[in-house]
Amino acid sequence: MSEVAEHLAAVEARIAAACRRAGRERSSVALIAVSKTFPAESVADAAAAGQSLFGESRLQEAEPKIAASPSGLRWHFIGGVQRNKVRKILPLFEAIHAIDSLRLAAYTDQVAAELGLRPQVFLQVNAAGELSKGGFEPVVLEREMEALLALKHVEIRGLMTIPPDDGNARPWFSALRVMRDRLAGSSGVVLPDLSMGMSGDYEEAIEEGATLVRVGSAIFGRRAYRVDGELG
Ligand SMILES: *Cc1c(COP(=O)(O)O)cnc(C)c1O
Repeated sequence: MSEVAEHLAAVEARIAAACRRAGRERSSVALIAVSKTFPAESVADAAAAGQSLFGESRLQEAEPKIAASPSGLRWHFIGGVQRNKVRKILPLFEAIHAIDSLRLAAYTDQVAAELGLRPQVFLQVNAAGELSKGGFEPVVLEREMEALLALKHVEIRGLMTIPPDDGNARPWFSALRVMRDRLAGSSGVVLPDLSMGMSGDYEEAIEEGATLVRVGSAIFGRRAYRVDGELG
């Protein structure tokens, strides 16, 4: 068994246990294996162990890696999105997790229409109002939700957040769930997904309602370098 396969099995056991504690079905949570900074060989190890959903945060890194990885895998773009990359991101990724403005959402919608695609989109929320992080301010999201939901060529799945890295993420996870429930209630649209939880806190995120957890280092090991503009 590869090291990646062993780590995956351990993460899987913890996800299953968190689901049991929360009274949730295991099938209600998807694991995104975040392979950023790791090579296609690591992706292949995870795929051989049954993992089919992967996350990347930089297009330049992801393009050759996806090409070199086993076919039939699903990829989510979890990093900050630059406008000039959208046209290349959409054909490679079924979902984008960090749409952080109406302008970017509208542009993504336009490019998706041109390409004949309908990507899944997550709206990133800067719940704690951190200056260093992207994401909608909650009040802005509330105001712009109707315009976002009017976009026809993106499927708005729900919300995503990256809480402050201070070891106390649970209140932010719970706040994101409350925000999702309120937005769904006021718009009358089901927003089924919450993308929240990383290696250090995915179990808490599941207990607070996450439907997608983005787990990198707990599966692939410690990253050797920091990705510019991204979380290390
Ligand atoms: C890198 C990254 C992750 C994974 O982080 P780990 O702590 O290694 O699990 C999750 N989400 C985003 C947005 C990331 O950039």
